[in-house]
Amino acid sequence: MKIASIQPRDTDAFDLHLLDHEGFEIARKLQVPVWVYDIDKARIPFANAAACKLWQAESEAELSARNMGDGMSSTVAKRLKQYQNDFIETSATFTELWTLYPNGKPQNVMVVYSGLRLADGRMAMLCEAINTFEDEPENVRSAEALLHTDVMIMLIGEDGPALYMNPAARNVVPNIRKELQSLFVDPTDHADLIIALSATGEHRLVAEVHTANGNRWFDISAKTCSDAATGAPAILVTAIDVSELKMARDKARYLADRDLLTGCYNRSFLQSHLTYLSTLDAPPQCAIIFFDVDRFKQINDRFGHEVGDTVLRQISNRARGLIRNCDMITRLGGDEFLILLEGIGSIEEIDQRVEELRDVISKPIFHEATRINVTVSMGISVFTPGQADFTEVMRHADIALYASKEAGRNRATHFNEDMGRAAQQRNQIEEELKTALKRREFVLFYQPRVDLRSGRVVSVEGLVRWNHPTRGLVMPDTFIPVCEETGMIEDLGREVLEVGCGQAIAWHAAGYDFEVSLNISPRQFADKHLLRTLYTLAQKPGFPKGKIELEITENVLFGDDRIIAKKLQTITKMGYRIAIDDFGTGYSNLSYISRFPLNCLKIDRSFVDQLPSSGPIISLILTLAHQIGAIVVAEGVETEEQRDWLANQDCEQAQGYFLSRPVPPVQFLEFAEQLNAQAEQ
Ligand code: C2E
Ligand code: MG
Ligand code: MG
Repeated sequence: MKIASIQPRDTDAFDLHLLDHEGFEIARKLQVPVWVYDIDKARIPFANAAACKLWQAESEAELSARNMGDGMSSTVAKRLKQYQNDFIETSATFTELWTLYPNGKPQNVMVVYSGLRLADGRMAMLCEAINTFEDEPENVRSAEALLHTDVMIMLIGEDGPALYMNPAARNVVPNIRKELQSLFVDPTDHADLIIALSATGEHRLVAEVHTANGNRWFDISAKTCSDAATGAPAILVTAIDVSELKMARDKARYLADRDLLTGCYNRSFLQSHLTYLSTLDAPPQCAIIFFDVDRFKQINDRFGHEVGDTVLRQISNRARGLIRNCDMITRLGGDEFLILLEGIGSIEEIDQRVEELRDVISKPIFHEATRINVTVSMGISVFTPGQADFTEVMRHADIALYASKEAGRNRATHFNEDMGRAAQQRNQIEEELKTALKRREFVLFYQPRVDLRSGRVVSVEGLVRWNHPTRGLVMPDTFIPVCEETGMIEDLGREVLEVGCGQAIAWHAAGYDFEVSLNISPRQFADKHLLRTLYTLAQKPGFPKGKIELEITENVLFGDDRIIAKKLQTITKMGYRIAIDDFGTGYSNLSYISRFPLNCLKIDRSFVDQLPSSGPIISLILTLAHQIGAIVVAEGVETEEQRDWLANQDCEQAQGYFLSRPVPPVQFLEFAEQLNAQAEQ
């Protein structure tokens, strides 16, 4: 029906002038209800008698005066707007079951809609009620439900655009001419859908869809059916927006696979990926680069954990920027990372990667005003998934990393079999040490400390030895580092403290008032159980308060001053004294010593060994110690000259082979009694 502009009529309370006179005269004669709906103004500018009856209007004028927008739901208003857009774009007609509310009473009608261009250029809607349903509440309700539901419902011609879309669908897919295929972001989703539909007649999938609001995820169900209007084959599609749910799930999965701090993959993801690789018909040759940050603990201690976190994040970002898409970076924990290189051809290729990696990591890292230079040590191991046990491969890389550390850090080492053997030996010692701890094979030897003014034995250092069942006495240098590394030092250290304190209690009970000094390793000092052990020992009957000295090394004091000072104060309050062992070999910054409750500085053997050239340094240490109220012990005194020089400089005590080697307790007591008797004379 072509409609041209006509003159306004008297009856036009509204803008009937926008409608064609002639065409509407015909429409007036029709028995079916026909009316025009002005979507923009929510008015009915034209209605024939049947339409007036349908709308329960007294007259056309009364109907056209009604504001149809009153009480109209937003879904309906939106739906009408959608139609308006469709009419502008196409000459389509739509047939839909609507519930009208003439004077508030529901009336169900099957309406055919088409576009009607008004004279002022706006698009209105020509409506023709082809069927009315008086007593079918089911129809009414289903039509209403279809209109208001958030579920997208579409009927799609097999190869063509949508035959029907409910308002929810129209909100998502504004362009009704779009074919189903073009809605899918991933074309394979559409292909899968079509294949499944032709095979089984139905399919369900979660897919990403182009919508008016950008790409979103939908849970889509599709079924083959026939178009009720034409009988042509069609597809009924229902879809629910699951974007939020999917995002939450994706996030949960992302978090499950990753390390939160750095965003790197985590160990469990790495393992599942390797398992996957090992199931491939031809798994690619892979290399793992296992690396950790050199002296990371010191970075943390010195600059704080925030800076430590920045370092880890930066390192992982830089490494990530360097690797290929098929490679993977994993944070195994702490400062340990692992890069998996997939499909690697040659050692040269790996070495080149390693160099690039070291290069990019060694660039300064900034955290606010702090600039940090870090280096990493790396261990590399090459393998083919499926042919090698991954635990073994990891162990190889770990051994190679250890070799890098041993060789002075900031380097990369490829695993080889010799290393494997050395590691095996270490493992063997480790196993043996475990047994030794259980069997209590450790004993303390005692080395006297002599007061240089009186010549008397005033103190004694307990030094641990391993009384090996077949190898005899094993010196601490061979097993203390292994114990430190493995954490066994915590048990061994406790054993030493118990034996040493027990011995001190026994000597004091027997009338000797020697001070007993015992060594505490850095890891043992950091052990959270240390304070409890010390407290328990200090509660023992006969514990010689103020007579047990704990020797710690300078690097133990390097870290958060307040925490360390507090720990040392707690220890001194329990009745222990604190000595710094091997003094002068640690950090050159001496300012720290005034901040801690220190009773004694033990000058390292290397200074005594270099006397008299090291004289000025020893004098300096003496001055420093006396200023903070600590005494000085010279270690490693091997000659009379050394002893005399030290005595002349007012050094309080000496310890060394010149006086006595470390010996078992009975021998020590004999020596001490003898020396003290001489001193009496
Ligand atoms: P240290 O605490 O500095 O102990 C002094 C070391 O110097 C002892 O070696 C001792 O035998 C040696 N020494 C003493 N006088 C002389 C001398 O005149 N000349 C020379 N060349 N050496 C001398 P030892 O017993 O082999 O202990 C080595 C290190 O092992 C100790 O150094 C200490 O760091 C560690 N250590 C020993 N026992 C324990 C322990 O029970 N716990 C911990 N954590 N470490 C221990
Ligand atoms: Mg010592
Ligand atoms: Mg020492």
